[in-house]
Amino acid sequence: MKPDVPPSPLRLKIDAAALAHNWRALDRLSGRASAGAAVKADGYGLGAAQVVPVLAAAGCRDWFVAHWQEVPEVLRHVPAGSVSVLHGPMNQAEIAFARATGVRPVINSLEQAQRWTESGGGVCDLMVDTGMSRLGVPMSALAEPAIVALNVDCCMSHLACADEDVQQNEQQRVQFDTVRGFVNARRYSLANSAGIVLGTAYHADLTRPGIALYGGIPRPELASTIRQVVFPEAAVIQVRHIQPGDHVGYNATFTATAPVRAGIVALGYADGYLRSWSGKGGFWWKGQRLPVIGRVSMDMTIVDLAGADDCSEGDWLSLDYAPIAAAKASGLSQYEIYTVLGRRFARFTEN
Ligand SMILES: *Cc1c(COP(=O)(O)O)cnc(C)c1O
Repeated sequence: MKPDVPPSPLRLKIDAAALAHNWRALDRLSGRASAGAAVKADGYGLGAAQVVPVLAAAGCRDWFVAHWQEVPEVLRHVPAGSVSVLHGPMNQAEIAFARATGVRPVINSLEQAQRWTESGGGVCDLMVDTGMSRLGVPMSALAEPAIVALNVDCCMSHLACADEDVQQNEQQRVQFDTVRGFVNARRYSLANSAGIVLGTAYHADLTRPGIALYGGIPRPELASTIRQVVFPEAAVIQVRHIQPGDHVGYNATFTATAPVRAGIVALGYADGYLRSWSGKGGFWWKGQRLPVIGRVSMDMTIVDLAGADDCSEGDWLSLDYAPIAAAKASGLSQYEIYTVLGRRFARFTEN
């Protein structure tokens, strides 16, 4: 018999009640439109296996992934007809997979439209570029026969700057109104999390929040509504007594000037605790903040245990991961602090 693998010294607690609350709040803020969920990148790093069932139970009925490889995990929890693949069909293998599973490709170009129709067509989604110059059929191509021939469920576009107060939001909205005159679809969708806050004119039929579901706050209007969902924790695997003059970590970026009781934590940049946290990050132990000293290494980070005399080997520390503060301290975006979280975290839902 194979031995049981011992539990990970890293755990990622996902507050299921907060996640469900955030979806319901965003659905409500979407007015007459329904909120779907962007669950690409393994549910923004939280784990699609954890977040999809919670969101489905909260009432979510529309799912967006980016890659075809992300489909199977999502399909373990929700019906195929409710899943859209944002990158669309690039080749015959992807078309065959779309047909076999029943998920909808999002058509992003004339070439993708032709490819889909030539292989037999059927219901798809359509992405139109209203000003981001990323994926999407250009406005100028909407009257092309390859686009007109599509059987479109959801016609969408994506806002480039919804987290800012800039002219481009209104420009994209006006362009999207024009799109609606050209493309005959069952549903229309424009807003991501931040776009929901821009108001009714942006809601159309379906909104596509991602980051705010997971606790991110892309606009201040959401700060009082959105709850923190992600609570990473890491175990102390050794306690050391560092003497004045001792150097700490790679490249000796920290040198003790007084005795330091230090904790070696089993978390490093391979887990998404990137080196940008070196000398800046902090962990929590019973209400006491423990600052990171020296450089973050691949599998370990060193913290100052001053004021945490009872903290010892095997104890769990909470990461300082409130999204706005964590993004600011690390220099990463709120999107990055979640999506970098590595596979060594044991992911679990609580509540
Ligand atoms: C990622 C993504 C979303 C979700 O955006 P958030 O800013 O995370 O709310 C919505 N639509 C598309 C097309 C996306 O790629």
